[in-house]
Amino acid sequence: MKYKDYYAILGVSRDSDTATIKAAYRKLALQYHPDRNPGNKEAEEKFKEISEAYEVLSDPEKRRQYDLFGTVGGAAGGGGGYADPFAQVVEEVFESFFGGRRRSRGRPVIQGEDVRLSIELTLEEIAAGTTREVEYVREDICDHCRGTGSAERMPPKPCATCQGTGQVAYRVGGGFFQQIVYQPCSTCGGSGFYIPHPCPICEGKGVRPKRHVQVVDIPPGAVGGMTLSLRGAGHKGPWGGPAGDLLLEIVEKPHPTFARDGEDLIYEVWVSYPDLVLGTTIEVPTLTGESVSLRIEPGTPSGEVFKLPGKGLPRYGSRRKGNLFVQVHVWVPRKVSRQEKELLEQMRKSQIFSPAKRPMEKSFLQRLKDLFRREEG
Ligand SMILES: [Zn+2]
Ligand SMILES: [Zn+2]
Repeated sequence: MKYKDYYAILGVSRDSDTATIKAAYRKLALQYHPDRNPGNKEAEEKFKEISEAYEVLSDPEKRRQYDLFGTVGGAAGGGGGYADPFAQVVEEVFESFFGGRRRSRGRPVIQGEDVRLSIELTLEEIAAGTTREVEYVREDICDHCRGTGSAERMPPKPCATCQGTGQVAYRVGGGFFQQIVYQPCSTCGGSGFYIPHPCPICEGKGVRPKRHVQVVDIPPGAVGGMTLSLRGAGHKGPWGGPAGDLLLEIVEKPHPTFARDGEDLIYEVWVSYPDLVLGTTIEVPTLTGESVSLRIEPGTPSGEVFKLPGKGLPRYGSRRKGNLFVQVHVWVPRKVSRQEKELLEQMRKSQIFSPAKRPMEKSFLQRLKDLFRREEG
């Protein structure tokens, strides 16, 4: 692929704004339009060239790629997702720079660093999944040089010393023991690029720190300590190197009502002693906001655990849901009135409220004793 100077074709300078480019294109398009020049092959070619130049320079993304690499990726643009559009373009550009010569040692690819952040989520957000906007500073394309690293915004050229590989071979030793050692090229500092006049803003790297807002989808069922990774949302690599990733660590906020055990939730509730003896119905809250009625049968012991299937948290990456376990405890008041005290004293005298006197609830020890007595007798 031959380098075409789209700016020269439209007769505009490299830092022209979109309006200037549009005006220049209209003027030339009118002049060379095939309808106005019937049968004129030369005008037809010129018109194609103008249109191609305009198509690239009028589109900010295409223009940036062109400024950076001197060409625009021919293949139909990105398939969405987090795929890095640069990797492919760089590949194509290098094919054209080196005229199809297969790279024996590969050019240096300088990948951007990962960005590490943590994000606090409530159990409600974990249960339903959530979308968050995360703001951070990352290395991004330098506007001044449009990522080229060059003060004139010219596409980077391969370094002549190392042929763009970023490495130089040295012979070490002699005779049979001669070895070839590769070291970073001192001319280009290992980048593989030759930039005669580096951009003063980014010092030739083509990237500089910028604020970035990333929309992050957090699927249901995340677990504290888990790290979500978003490909390509980290620092951009210099000179079109692939971007690093955004690594988001999930931090779980403690919940005021529920404890979590994997996909299961635990809810502790206190009910009155008469409620346990006579039975009642209680309302149990859930993470979705709606409450569930739970029947406490008469004679339920304190500490009993009830299981509400499917009312727990979803398992990450699955439709399965955990359970909500409800443990009921008897509520013991700290202070009672004289009247209540009299009532309780009456209850105390009644044998039915005394655990030791009830044969059904003999202790484990008592049962052992009974067993020995029978054997002796
Ligand atoms: Zn720059
Ligand atoms: Zn070099």
